[in-house]
Amino acid sequence: MHEFRYLRNNLFCERVKVEDLAKRWGTPLYVYSYKTLLDHYWKLKNAFREINPLICYSVKANSNLSILKILVEQGAGLDIVSGGELFRAIKVKCPPKRIVYASVGKTEREIETAIRQGILFFNVESVSELENINRIAERLGKKTNVSLRINPDVEPQTHRFITTGKLTNKFGLDFQTAEEILKKREKYLWLKIKGLHIHIGSQIIESSPFVSAIRKLVSFHRQMKEEGIDLEYLNIGGGLGIIYYKEKPQTAKEFALCVIPILKETQAKVILEPGRFIAGPSGILVVKVLYIKSTPSKNFIIVDGAMNDLIRPALYGAYHEILPVTKFQNQKSKIKNQKYDIVGPICESGDFFAKDREISPLREGDYLAIMGAGAYGFSMSSNYNSRCRVAEVLVKDDKAYLIRRRETYRDLVRNEVVIDKF
Ligand code: PLP
Repeated sequence: MHEFRYLRNNLFCERVKVEDLAKRWGTPLYVYSYKTLLDHYWKLKNAFREINPLICYSVKANSNLSILKILVEQGAGLDIVSGGELFRAIKVKCPPKRIVYASVGKTEREIETAIRQGILFFNVESVSELENINRIAERLGKKTNVSLRINPDVEPQTHRFITTGKLTNKFGLDFQTAEEILKKREKYLWLKIKGLHIHIGSQIIESSPFVSAIRKLVSFHRQMKEEGIDLEYLNIGGGLGIIYYKEKPQTAKEFALCVIPILKETQAKVILEPGRFIAGPSGILVVKVLYIKSTPSKNFIIVDGAMNDLIRPALYGAYHEILPVTKFQNQKSKIKNQKYDIVGPICESGDFFAKDREISPLREGDYLAIMGAGAYGFSMSSNYNSRCRVAEVLVKDDKAYLIRRRETYRDLVRNEVVIDKF
């Protein structure tokens, strides 16, 4: 599943001891496994081999340039949602014809840059946006490809904050509006409507919500074809769940087996936009135990990482497995077989990585690994409490590479302006 394993009580990432990385680069520290990243990309690519889709890795999951470059070099495209992500995609030389661009709020400037770059298409989320892209394309004199993001109104059975395919969510167009757009497509002189797109949510562990959404999409595609509107692409989004706790998510193969027969009812080219599935299992966040503290009602392990470094537990109540970087330290351990809240130093009670977690004996100064932190970890991090964003290291085999330097206090204030006198 992933390349983080114990060897004689020491946690290794591929062939490198995690403790050595923590000592060399300090903590908190994100550590990624090259092999795990690639394995997950290829798991999907191989599972879908029969229909040879374009896999556009979703940049938001983990946008480090080295991660993007590795995937682009394997043939992946990129799914972007902002001008900043487009900048990253260009920086790693992703061919523009492998870039798709979603977002309910694309700005004038972002649209213009993406048109100039000649991306594969925009996934359009509203009529106003469609009209805006048409206007900008006309001004630039560049005919532009778009795809319509459909909101299929299905329940993905995941956390409500990462549900995106219900009509109560802000995303996409309902079928009727999409149909009206397609029937009046001649009106958008500067646009070519090339396909349909859905993305129903994230961390979806069963195939059934995907199946119902894709069925709806394919049936709409067929209906449009019968009306003489042939759409070249079907983009089925991302959303595949991974194991954080005891989930048993569908495997790439199981997912492919369920959806390929439906997709094959059309002749359309298929696009996938996985983020979490590829990046999630490939990363851990390594933190150091600062203090062990007990109150009359609770025990706390206070670590040097915090919610600004990994916000998923605070934001979604998300579970991450937490493992000692070195097992069975010694008998001098301050804690034994008790439950602890594992918390950070930030001034919020929401700043925790785990609640009431039973943890094997450890001491102040020991390291812990927060597992499954490769997606929506660093990319959602912030400078809250004026904490420097952490370093990222990529391990390939027996070598480790720094792929992002730790921020300094100078970085924290770099863009601030101190007014002498008001
Ligand atoms: N595509 C779109 C449009 C998204 O909004 C997202 C995530 O929010 C993704 C793909 C990636 O989702 P996941 O990381 O769950 O695969």
